[in-house]
Amino acid sequence: MTSKPPKKILLIFAHPDDETSSCGGTISKYSKLGSEIFVCTATNGNKGDLGTGDLVLKREELGTFRENEEKAVLKFLGAKDVIQLGYDDQGLELLDVPILENQFFDILMDIKPNIVITFGERGFSGHTDHIQAHVNAKNAFGKYVKFSPESKLLYTAMPRFFAEFRNMDLSEDEKSPSIAINISSTWENKVKALRMYKSQNDAQEIAKMFEEMYSSDNFDNFGESKEIIIGLFNSLKKFGYTNNPTEYFHQAYPKLKNYSDIVLSSNF
Ligand SMILES: [Zn+2]
Repeated sequence: MTSKPPKKILLIFAHPDDETSSCGGTISKYSKLGSEIFVCTATNGNKGDLGTGDLVLKREELGTFRENEEKAVLKFLGAKDVIQLGYDDQGLELLDVPILENQFFDILMDIKPNIVITFGERGFSGHTDHIQAHVNAKNAFGKYVKFSPESKLLYTAMPRFFAEFRNMDLSEDEKSPSIAINISSTWENKVKALRMYKSQNDAQEIAKMFEEMYSSDNFDNFGESKEIIIGLFNSLKKFGYTNNPTEYFHQAYPKLKNYSDIVLSSNF
């Protein structure tokens, strides 16, 4: 790595596990590089799955259980602190405006991060809590940046050809990565961390997907489309795309021009 790692990175997401699904390798990598990583999670995820494998939880204990899972996961990944706001799952759009934005703003002013990472406009999955996390984090950042003009706002993203291959409903920004963090050295930590979210089936599925993709020839995962995907990677090599395990981000502030042809940055 040529540039110095950012001093402080704040991730703002909706549910315990969002941060690991989208940024687990990056959290582990940058905490090893010396960045202080903070995570703010708006809900306690109390409407999620009630366990996987032999774990069976009661609905009323799920919120606390998931918050504890998240604390253990983030400790494992090397994050410095997690701020859990404890709202009900699927409840963020019911909050009076601008309660959440003000809370995010206070946290931004308290931590003073150099990099803020959150969901983009479609929340990666269209989940209403994800979209609310995006809107309120973006608005709070808009106020914060007046006090910290050097700071950057990033959205989780994926390469356009992946999004289209998987028929994902993403905004332009979410399909236009400008940063590709190579997580070859930490993707196994991401898988372990996802496995620690024993209450959640999605986390287990994503862990399995990563294992299948990166334990062997990762292109085999694309089945009949394998040749097409290999061709796409080769044609996009000059833009910085590789088949390494990677987490992608779109820089939303400062805004980028002509990012359709952008060469990916390999660090923040
Ligand atoms: Zn979520």
